[in-house]
Amino acid sequence: MADYIDLDGAEQAFGDTDAQRAVRENDRNFVFHSWSAQGQINPLPVAKGEGVRFWDYDGTEYLDFSSQLVNLNLGHQHPGLVRAIQEQAGRMATIQPAMANDVRGELAKRIVEKSFDGARSVFFTNGGAEANEYAVRMARHHTGRQKVLARFRSYHGSTATAITLTGEARRWPNGTPDAGVVHFFGPYQYRSEFYSESPEQEAERALTHLEHTIQLEGPNTIAAIILETVTGTNGIFVPPPGYLTGVRELCDRYGIVLICDEVMAGFGRTGEWFAYQGFDVKPDLVTFAKGVNSGYVPLGGVVISDEIHNTFVDKAFPGGLTYSGHPLACAAGVATFDIFEEEGIIERVRDLAARVIEPRLREITAKHKSVGEYRGTGMFWALELVANRDSREPLAGDAYNAVIAACKNAGLWPFAAGNRLQIAPPLVISEEDLVRGLEIIDAALDVADSYY
Ligand code: PLP
Repeated sequence: MADYIDLDGAEQAFGDTDAQRAVRENDRNFVFHSWSAQGQINPLPVAKGEGVRFWDYDGTEYLDFSSQLVNLNLGHQHPGLVRAIQEQAGRMATIQPAMANDVRGELAKRIVEKSFDGARSVFFTNGGAEANEYAVRMARHHTGRQKVLARFRSYHGSTATAITLTGEARRWPNGTPDAGVVHFFGPYQYRSEFYSESPEQEAERALTHLEHTIQLEGPNTIAAIILETVTGTNGIFVPPPGYLTGVRELCDRYGIVLICDEVMAGFGRTGEWFAYQGFDVKPDLVTFAKGVNSGYVPLGGVVISDEIHNTFVDKAFPGGLTYSGHPLACAAGVATFDIFEEEGIIERVRDLAARVIEPRLREITAKHKSVGEYRGTGMFWALELVANRDSREPLAGDAYNAVIAACKNAGLWPFAAGNRLQIAPPLVISEEDLVRGLEIIDAALDVADSYY
């Protein structure tokens, strides 16, 4: 691993209990946190990060098995990313989107080169939700249709259309800001809505359900189908054989735009540059964020097919953002491509997934009665925790919280979601740290078993 660049401020504060207290106090007094009841949270103060680890101000160390919010693909303080941002800030810190800039153009070119056949251009946003907003807007203008189909077990972001696209509970308190969205079920073999008995049957029945939904909603009213290629927060669902190609066929049959949301799954997370590349499917629009520059500076975007790009050659695209294609973010994006090549990131994700993660999770699942099943790909996995293996009742409440606490007490910061222990470490993790993290999870699951 390369030398890390220490920031003076973090070094001074590090190991300082008074600093920990001051950070906590300012946070509690002045910061309004997302997705939280303000009086019921106690955020961890974090002083410093390096590679796959971060530390609080008291010096307590955590192995980051969540990559923060599954964005930190190249780990904390990667020197190549830090240097690229510093150099760009010294040269040209910001430039408005209606002007051209070298790193913006270079990053768009690199993304298109790694994208599907027929990918033409990139529209940059500040993050994932906005990318989905703009992808939907493009599909609507392109098709002249209004409806968008999205899956129930999905998260697409928190802005107006994105939160309506989101299928799960985070949508409920936000009403229906975009009236054109309709939800459908995706494949989920372990808790199948279709009573299917094999992944192939699950795919086939999910496709039949989707086609009925299209027909009942009116095919010529539907602009787009949006789906997370590999679902993230809602459970790491890898599409069963034939599902994504079947969705593509339905889109072709009914003239519907296929949007793959790769905000979480893109940029190496699944062992492919983009997750759809593992399923032999060609989308029309792909949304990305997070891994494009490991979240060092906010950046997202939409990869646009030639056909949709052409809709806006003589007609203006009605939309834009002040910080679209921000040079600091794009410089970090270009550096990401260089680092991926230099460090062989895609190859190491595939290798560690096949040689270390999958066999170890198989073993853990066989050993612990509190694990219903494991599933995933690349560095993107879930252990589905249950209170009862036969009824598949989800593990919840004190038992679930005790598992998460056991991980944290042992120095591992997990990706906890629903009744699942999800595993998404930075892609630069060493084999040794991966083995150690999985050992901590193994031990933490003894706690869940003890509630059985
Ligand atoms: N889409 C997916 C699949 C996500 O996981 C997320 C965030 O976690 C988003 C969209 C929203 O991205 P952002 O928080 O950058 O707006």
